[in-house]
Amino acid sequence: MPELYVDGQWRSAADGGRREIRCPADGSLVAEVDEATASDTEAAIDAAHRAFHEGPWPTTSARERGDLLLRVADLLVRDKDQVARMESLDTGKRLVESEYDVDDIVSVFRHYGHVASEDAGRVVDTGNPDVVSRIVHEPIGVCGLITPWNYPLLQVSWKVAPCLAAGNTFVLKPSELTPATAIHLMKLLEEAGLPAGVGNLVLGTGPDAGAPLSTDPRVDLVSFTGGLQTGRTIMAAAAPTVKKVALELGGKNPNVVFADADFEVALDYALTAVFLHSGQVCSAGARLIVEESIHDRFVDALVERAGTIRLGGPFDERAETGPLTSAAHRDKVEAYVAAGIAEGAVLRCGGRRPDATEQPELADGFYYLPTVLDGCTSDMSVTQEESFGPVLTVETFRGEDDAVATANDSIYGLAGAVWTQDAGKAQRVAGRLRMGTVWINDYHPYVPQAEWGGYKQSGTGRELGLAGLDEYRETKHVWHNIRPAEQRWFAG
Ligand code: NAD
Repeated sequence: MPELYVDGQWRSAADGGRREIRCPADGSLVAEVDEATASDTEAAIDAAHRAFHEGPWPTTSARERGDLLLRVADLLVRDKDQVARMESLDTGKRLVESEYDVDDIVSVFRHYGHVASEDAGRVVDTGNPDVVSRIVHEPIGVCGLITPWNYPLLQVSWKVAPCLAAGNTFVLKPSELTPATAIHLMKLLEEAGLPAGVGNLVLGTGPDAGAPLSTDPRVDLVSFTGGLQTGRTIMAAAAPTVKKVALELGGKNPNVVFADADFEVALDYALTAVFLHSGQVCSAGARLIVEESIHDRFVDALVERAGTIRLGGPFDERAETGPLTSAAHRDKVEAYVAAGIAEGAVLRCGGRRPDATEQPELADGFYYLPTVLDGCTSDMSVTQEESFGPVLTVETFRGEDDAVATANDSIYGLAGAVWTQDAGKAQRVAGRLRMGTVWINDYHPYVPQAEWGGYKQSGTGRELGLAGLDEYRETKHVWHNIRPAEQRWFAG
């Protein structure tokens, strides 16, 4: 069956292109899918444009759109096992993590299913009894949605659900590495009754299949999640048509541990913060900033535990984390660690691929051991750049001001955490951190009701929450003079 979905039809790539999808855990062939080029994307934009300007979708009631999203949530619950398995085969992540992801995805569809009809606008008090002045929300139009490979369907759901809730049409281009669950979602949208042309899917590389979404004048908004460099390219490409641009980019997220933190809990979370999904998490706590007085004890204990983390494939029930997504990505992580060591960082554990004689089942996967680089300072490339791998850099600080200054010394501002049992200090530091999410005595939790996004070069705009819905809405002021009369400004 063809895998591109355009104007309510499943079709093959115009030039016959195909791509093999391989599991990063062992290189096994998972699927072969259509590989679109620009002409397929242009056909999809065509369909989305027609569906927006001619179709009934943008003017259906918000309640009706919300109901469709709730049906999709129910279908995802029905297909949970299948979807989790697909996600694990494409990403190599443990099945249990993919199952958590599907639960989160269901929550996102339910959330926007319920909020779709909230906040329908407001009446403005003009002080003039002969005027009715209203603020109304309208869909933006055709949306280009571009997503990465680390949380494939979760990132798609953060865009598709609010996009549809607001009444837009879309062309989705997921990562070329992990297409399976996006294909399945389109089938579920079709089953739930989405009209033809409202949702379209193209698969393929960014420069070929993705690029028209930021250049085509018929696209009104491009919402992108991915790396900083790609974000810059997309923003520049969107400038000539002055599209709305929403960017969810990378992070180099500080995990700040004060000496008065609960030592064992902070230690436990410091591991999860950075090594979950082998560090391939935009909000990974990859920068440990620990108060100098507890540095030795904290880092010794952390290194000991990092050295026992068990790697394995999606269906290995003893595995604690999985592989990197591709050989090219592992090469990048290796080069990053080598650069850090050359700059003076001290390698405390990891820093290499696992020994295939000890775990032969890892030999064909893109595995990399959990790595700790100690003795780092914020002027090093490893503390400033995102590795997007299982690599923790360690810096120290003395006192509150130093902690804040060190944590904020970054071009990024996505997320971070502060660990202390002093509630006042926790709140003061959280207030001074320049990032979109701050966790206090916790790491990683998020809920669809709360906004997510970056300060500084971690992006522009917000996903989730009400602001995540506003990204997909225009705001219009309707002024109605109900007693028109001559004004005689120009009386002559
Ligand atoms: P990437 O930038 O390489 O690719 C992301 C998507 O953009 C893919 O679908 C890709 O095909 C497409 N793309 C690439 N070039 C393009 C172009 N010129 N025009 C249009 N589309 C193009 O990123 P990645 O390696 O897939 O993902 C990892 C990055 O994503 C990390 O930096 C991570 O921090 C970031 N990320 C951020 C968040 C967040 O919420 N802020 C969430 C997940 C991932």
